[in-house]
Amino acid sequence: MIDYQDVLNTIYQEIIQETEKGDIATYIPELANVDKSTFGIHLQLVSGQAFSVGDAEKKFSIQSISKVLSLALALSRVGIDLWDRLDVEPSGNPFNHLSLLELEKGIPRNPFINSGAIVIADMLVSLLEHPKEDFLDFVRDLTGDDTIDYNNKVADSEMQTGFNNFAAANLLKSFDNLNNDVADVLDFYFHQCSLEMTCAQLTKAFYVFANQGHCLKEKTRLTKSQAKRINAIMLTCGFYDEAGEFAFEVGLPGKSGVGGGIVALLPNEFVISVWAPGLNEKGNSKLGMQALEKFTTKTNQSIF
Ligand code: GLN
Repeated sequence: MIDYQDVLNTIYQEIIQETEKGDIATYIPELANVDKSTFGIHLQLVSGQAFSVGDAEKKFSIQSISKVLSLALALSRVGIDLWDRLDVEPSGNPFNHLSLLELEKGIPRNPFINSGAIVIADMLVSLLEHPKEDFLDFVRDLTGDDTIDYNNKVADSEMQTGFNNFAAANLLKSFDNLNNDVADVLDFYFHQCSLEMTCAQLTKAFYVFANQGHCLKEKTRLTKSQAKRINAIMLTCGFYDEAGEFAFEVGLPGKSGVGGGIVALLPNEFVISVWAPGLNEKGNSKLGMQALEKFTTKTNQSIF
């Protein structure tokens, strides 16, 4: 029997001594004010027990982690036709690169690079009666927590400065792969990225992927196959051009965001989230990746 609390405490002590903490994502001005020394981990076992260390109850901007949740909602509504408009191949490129999108005629490589997530956002804007409210309800329901909310300042900050995402959306539109107005789709996309959650809330939201499509309340939110497929995409595409490195070092499906959060899971066993806001040069949490490498090494648990 693994003493998870002891493992988390040891990782915490090792990580807080690291002096190279990475860089905060300042390209979204509202994210620039976060304290780089913040660090927390939350572990939720599928069997029910949970363990925490550090700043696991502090809210942060989940950013691209939200792309997994929007994909889950879209896939549960649209089914496999969703894949007519985007692919499931790793991009080997940064999350915001546009050149592949042009080369591949407006079909994004996968739903976790920005252009792919914008196509998913477009589907949800078409499908949902009140897109922002309905998506928030979906996340609250998965997590069992009504306090989760958007940070409108962060969303506005991206609306003012997100020229690259406007370029991606316009490129998609030019290839006929965006049905709604660019501004409406990006308003939704920037709000989904602005969701604020704690490590503890994130593990609860992602429980559905570790538990074959059943959320914490044991309600079915995805089919077993949909959960399995989303986990596969997290493994191959969850860390952009560092997906190989994450599989190599950590060995779990997972997803990162430029707010410094990472959530990862071992199907049928656990969900773990970490928050350390400093990023490496690929835009993934530097100490978050190190912490997860230590976790799967010390507990000898990974999908491999
Ligand atoms: N909202 C951010 C963007 O679109 C999300 C990027 C990320 O977390 N990798 O640039």
